Amino acid sequence: MAGRHEKEKGVNVQVLLRCRPFSDDELRCNAPQVITCNEWQREVAVSQNIAGKQIDRIFTFDKVFGPSAHQSDLYEQAVVPIVNEVLEGFNCTIFAYGQTGTGKTYTMEGDSKKSKNGELPPGAGVIPRAVKQIFDTLEGQNAEYSVKVTFLELYNEEITDLLAPEEISKAALDEKQKKPLLLMEDGKGGVLVRGLEEEIVTSANEIFTLLERGSAKRRTAETLLNKQSSRSHSLFSITIHIKESTPEGEELIKCGKLNLVDLAGSENISRSGAREGRAREAGEINKSLLTLGRVITALVEHLGHVPYRDSKLTRLLRDSLGGRTKTCIIATVSPSVHCLEETLSTLDYAHRAKNIKNRPEVNQK
Ligand code: ADP
Repeated sequence: MAGRHEKEKGVNVQVLLRCRPFSDDELRCNAPQVITCNEWQREVAVSQNIAGKQIDRIFTFDKVFGPSAHQSDLYEQAVVPIVNEVLEGFNCTIFAYGQTGTGKTYTMEGDSKKSKNGELPPGAGVIPRAVKQIFDTLEGQNAEYSVKVTFLELYNEEITDLLAPEEISKAALDEKQKKPLLLMEDGKGGVLVRGLEEEIVTSANEIFTLLERGSAKRRTAETLLNKQSSRSHSLFSITIHIKESTPEGEELIKCGKLNLVDLAGSENISRSGAREGRAREAGEINKSLLTLGRVITALVEHLGHVPYRDSKLTRLLRDSLGGRTKTCIIATVSPSVHCLEETLSTLDYAHRAKNIKNRPEVNQK
């Protein structure tokens, strides 16, 4: 069954581009706009003259969301089908990739995670919307189900459990740093994180409370350990088991997993960071982001060797990248000239993943 799906679906990597509106600071200094989004043509044009050198480039993506796109537009057009796949028993991963300050967290988490009377605020991002879609669907169907979530942070290739119950303190954090959570093969092609808290949840609201707890812990840990969130990846995973009965009375169990990943700022990939003792950090972030790029390339090009093992991030996501899974990369950029260099680097990274998929020899496989 799995093999059949694999053949039918192939490796599915969808790449979206989102350009945020100008920030107040950018507006105040009249930063020229260097990006034009054509949502209809799914194109992003970059045009700028720098020191007499004219840059004119056009990139095409699976979908493009300009500065006026609402959270609901992105969710309905790009994420609803992915969550439906998860509810059908597939593993899917959504990444936010881009320079710090371009809207990764806004896209994934959004303005507010609190739901009012079951309704989400307009600023709610992908995570709360996915949680709501999952529970609305599960509660509306006549099947037994169970939902588990994990929430972790990867910093310097070390994992912090954002749902661990203990009160956070400098001493506890130091202890955790000495005894980092361990990644272990689960014998089924995936990995387990030994010691990671897995919360069983029964409603969307319970998840919203856990998310708040996890985000607060992330902020506290950042302050206590003098970390920068732009240098860490956060991974929120929802695993769903659904027990259904076929008309013949047979029992059918579907198990799907959705990974929602807010990646470290992509500026860490291009800058050496070899200043002020940040060399190791930059190297480790580099490793995860670069390995992720290589893994996606290997998957879409059907290369024999996929280098999952080369970074913790890709080891963690091994059962959700490739094979019967859908992967979506949301690349985020700023419209301002001040970010031009990083914007071009983000567009190139994202476009590489998109472009490879379209090679005819790959499509024919
Ligand atoms: P990142 O996670 O990439 O560092 P943030 O998500 O923190 O960036 O976004 C930086 C700022 O820009 C935040 O104040 C956020 O609210 C705002 N922002 C980002 N994207 C959008 C958007 N599409 N619409 C409105 N505001 C946005």
